[in-house]
Amino acid sequence: MSWLEITLTVLSSLIGMEVFAWVAHKYIMHGWGWGWHRDHHEPHDKALEKNDLFAVVFGTINAAMYIYGSLYWDWLWWFAVGITLYGVIYTLVHDGLVHQRYWRWVPRKGYAKRLVQAHKLHHATIGKEGGVSFGFVIARDPAKLKAELKAQKEAGLAVVRDAQI
Ligand SMILES: [Zn+2]
Ligand SMILES: [Zn+2]
Repeated sequence: MSWLEITLTVLSSLIGMEVFAWVAHKYIMHGWGWGWHRDHHEPHDKALEKNDLFAVVFGTINAAMYIYGSLYWDWLWWFAVGITLYGVIYTLVHDGLVHQRYWRWVPRKGYAKRLVQAHKLHHATIGKEGGVSFGFVIARDPAKLKAELKAQKEAGLAVVRDAQI
């Protein structure tokens, strides 16, 4: 593969993963996968969550892609590189910046702050119904997310923690 093909493959994998993460989070984690995702949405003081099992599953699929990719298809190997890169970005943003599992620094300005606000608003709902901001790297304006939460609450589509909106 040429460097252009490699770059395009990794980039499309990265972008595709944000789309995949959004869809999987909304329809799997907040759907039939709620049994594993639930403890991520409830307060606790444990170091690990059942929700971390999703990372194990996706990591295993990613590892299988490297194996098949190295044996049969170059592009699949590079596609897997994009997935790994996304995983690193995801965990730095989600587990690092938002949930403070790695460090305690909280961004006070810029896009990093917006990412944290957007995901905090994802955690503003109680239970699996409704909710906003299912992606992790692309975040909408927090004011718009708050307005959407309010609308969901008024329509009876979500249970929202009062302090959040
Ligand atoms: Zn969630
Ligand atoms: Zn979270």
